[in-house]
Amino acid sequence: MDIKANTSSLLKSLPGHVRLVAVSKTKSVAEIKASYEAGQRIFGENKIQEMASKWEALPKDISWHMIGHVQRNKVKYMAPFVDLIHGVESLKLLQEIQKQALKNNRIQRCLIQIRIAEEESKFGLPPDQLNAVLEAAESMSHVKVIGFMGMATFTEDQAQIASEFKFLNSLFEASKKKWPKLTTLSMGMSGDYPLAIECGSNMIRVGSKIFGRRNY
Ligand SMILES: *Cc1c(COP(=O)(O)O)cnc(C)c1O
Repeated sequence: MDIKANTSSLLKSLPGHVRLVAVSKTKSVAEIKASYEAGQRIFGENKIQEMASKWEALPKDISWHMIGHVQRNKVKYMAPFVDLIHGVESLKLLQEIQKQALKNNRIQRCLIQIRIAEEESKFGLPPDQLNAVLEAAESMSHVKVIGFMGMATFTEDQAQIASEFKFLNSLFEASKKKWPKLTTLSMGMSGDYPLAIECGSNMIRVGSKIFGRRNY
């Protein structure tokens, strides 16, 4: 795997409005450095301890994104440094993020993860609760919701994936009219990011296409 070359060619291939989150979970500091050398500055992790130790070891101009499921009791460990939390799926979690952001004197940027997959296992806020959460976020001084995140069903059926992405995009477009600070739509991974971009994504989360397959 030539991580530096993979990062360069992926960055070059993306439309200008699409931001790349390089998903570096399970990968070493040296591997992240190789991607960094190609100009990549946003890295995504799904475990707080792993992200914190990489944050300590790597250059401070890296923007760290928490892309995984977030437990409320772990928010305090990411609050000092995480740039964007993708997986906010409840009001209770948002309230804890507000509390910890206040303690750290930071404005915490967040995405609301919305349940779009048909399959049962996926996390996310049911779409019918979205407005209530966005309303509540308005009164939180140290939380800034800047958009939505979604994960499509794990399937080969491109039509189904496309319809889930399009659904989230239509929710995003409709919500933007009421909340103009919604600017970010995070959808698409190694296997489906070109389709996600076609369906309106402007932030993709790509791991294996850059770093190779993961050994858990
Ligand atoms: C692991 C992960 C990715 C990246 O997956 P790849 O298929 O390796 O690109 C993207 N998003 C989330 C939420 C992940 O957990």
